[in-house]
Amino acid sequence: MDCCAPSNNTGAARTDCPSCGEKGKNIQLITLKSLLKASALEKIEPENSYGFCSNSVCSTVYFSMNHLQTFAESDLKVPVYQKNPSMNVPVCYCFDWTRDRLLQAAGTHQQPAKQIKVHVQAGRCGCELNNPQGACCLGNVNVFLGGLNKG
Ligand SMILES: [Zn+2]
Repeated sequence: MDCCAPSNNTGAARTDCPSCGEKGKNIQLITLKSLLKASALEKIEPENSYGFCSNSVCSTVYFSMNHLQTFAESDLKVPVYQKNPSMNVPVCYCFDWTRDRLLQAAGTHQQPAKQIKVHVQAGRCGCELNNPQGACCLGNVNVFLGGLNKG
């Protein structure tokens, strides 16, 4: 949305993160409503558009596209995969595959990526409610598993 609009217009929806300047991803309000703690939820302005910053070195998770609000990982009920390197952080939020669980499944016959894909295709996932990025985790799962295979 608004990808061609000049970004220096006051009041224009800006998809760049106000904290790090990287381009964020438009996020549905339902994801913020589902994952923000009450103290942060009380501050959202539903008429605003919000973005998600996936930059791992930036502390901002969500920002309003008028650049007046930012929310950090501590404002969310769950740890954020992109911001938190802990092994007990979910990569797949819907089916509870943490980095640790994926690591343990690697080298067994469990094939987590395949399992997750089956559930996704069956329409069982709720990424917009469970995953802070508001979208399917499969890309992250494959990148994580791919990194394991290389290392
Ligand atoms: Zn950022």
